Amino acid sequence: MTETYRSSKNRITGVSISSIITAFHCPRRYYFYSAIESKPSERYSICKQISCMGPEATEEELWENICIIHPDIADEKRSFLKECLKATRNIPLRPWTETDILVRSDRAGIHGLLDKYNAATGEYALTRCTNAPNKGCWPDDALRAAAFLICLEETCTTKVEGMYIEYIPSGIVRYYKPTPKDRRMVLQLIHKVRDIDKGGFPKKPLSPPCSGCSFLEQCQQNKPQRLSFFFKK
Ligand code: SF4
Repeated sequence: MTETYRSSKNRITGVSISSIITAFHCPRRYYFYSAIESKPSERYSICKQISCMGPEATEEELWENICIIHPDIADEKRSFLKECLKATRNIPLRPWTETDILVRSDRAGIHGLLDKYNAATGEYALTRCTNAPNKGCWPDDALRAAAFLICLEETCTTKVEGMYIEYIPSGIVRYYKPTPKDRRMVLQLIHKVRDIDKGGFPKKPLSPPCSGCSFLEQCQQNKPQRLSFFFKK
């Protein structure tokens, strides 16, 4: 039987790691988000340029490149570039030989773009445009690392136990080894994303991050749908 999907993206390519992360924050948000065109993050592009810059790079050169990537970027965003450059001035960002590496796991049916790989040491790194937590990494970064590791385990001949996470705005780099709990959560979320892609409307999680959510109105309008669910029983 042919399955019908709300979005053709994940049917063709498998579940993207970014879909898993959006569903982790709130499955409903993923439901709404998957139906619209996503806008690339300017903050992420700024951090990525810093993460991959050469030792001689100047703020001017970095900003010129960012303007090529995002022709409509507002001048005010340059202050974020300045702050990030200041934060990372004295920290050793992870060296790399390849960037934006497409990795996938046919077993788990997921794929994603890994930020950095260094062939000389065999290390991998994620670049984040958020501040670092007081210790370790944020829960969504733990899931990112776990999902990428699941992909790498299918293609790498050497064992990879963890990866570096660069928190560019804080100028902090941490190493994280995903746990079995992280992997279990990734597997659960893959199923959740697949269900939503097939048209399932997810229930609200117990404590959703609704404050500032751009789908608040749509989400509230869907309340009657939740009530009708009870009448069906
Ligand atoms: S309003 Fe709350 S429950 Fe609804 S999509 Fe946004 S975060 Fe999720």
